[in-house]
Amino acid sequence: MTHPSTERTLVIIKPDGIQRGLAGEIISRFEKVGLKLVASKMLIPEVSHIEEHYTLDPEWRRITGEKTIEGYKSKGLTPPMDDPYKITEVILANLKKYMTSGPVIAMVWQGAHAVKIVRKLVGGTEPLTSDVGTIRGDYVLDSYAMSDADSRAIRNLIHASGNLADAEKEVNHWFKPEEVMNYRLVQEEIIYDVNLDGILE
Ligand code: GDP
Ligand code: MG
Repeated sequence: MTHPSTERTLVIIKPDGIQRGLAGEIISRFEKVGLKLVASKMLIPEVSHIEEHYTLDPEWRRITGEKTIEGYKSKGLTPPMDDPYKITEVILANLKKYMTSGPVIAMVWQGAHAVKIVRKLVGGTEPLTSDVGTIRGDYVLDSYAMSDADSRAIRNLIHASGNLADAEKEVNHWFKPEEVMNYRLVQEEIIYDVNLDGILE
């Protein structure tokens, strides 16, 4: 069995994160929790790269469509369409425009429970309801009501892999194997080592 500390997840600081000068703050949160940055690059993504990214999970169109329809109904609203695939087509078109509008920073973060820990720090998808203390909750005031009214993607600063299987596919989609670093971080000795020998002189 591989050690839990080797888990990896993909994080993208979206164009609004770069434009709002929040890249340092976002990176800092992942550093402070004890995760290790093992890959990083700035790029302006191609439209096809973004479409592929969101559809790496063949079920993403259906799941996102159904989730969105459920979201409207739970607020007592009528969804604009009943077909989950048609709703996702609109979401995907908006996402392609948003994600290719400027530079993004793609990163791989490694450490115990990396996928879940990053999702916890990032917060829920819609900033209006993301918990206080999360990155989206603290730094964004966007909502589906506003982004839908303006026919655009919700600006929620960050993409983070949703689960381990997605994380593996997404890391491979954004990085070549040689771009992901294998190295030791000094703080891993206090986070993961079984013995704490060597602190006292
Ligand atoms: P994430 O992993 O928290 O970013 O959320 P998802 O993977 O569920 O969705 C990916 C992206 O699809 C989000 O960042 C939003 O841009 C968009 N999206 C998801 N759900 C909805 C929704 O209910 N309404 C709208 N307008 N967009 C949505
Ligand atoms: Mg997702």
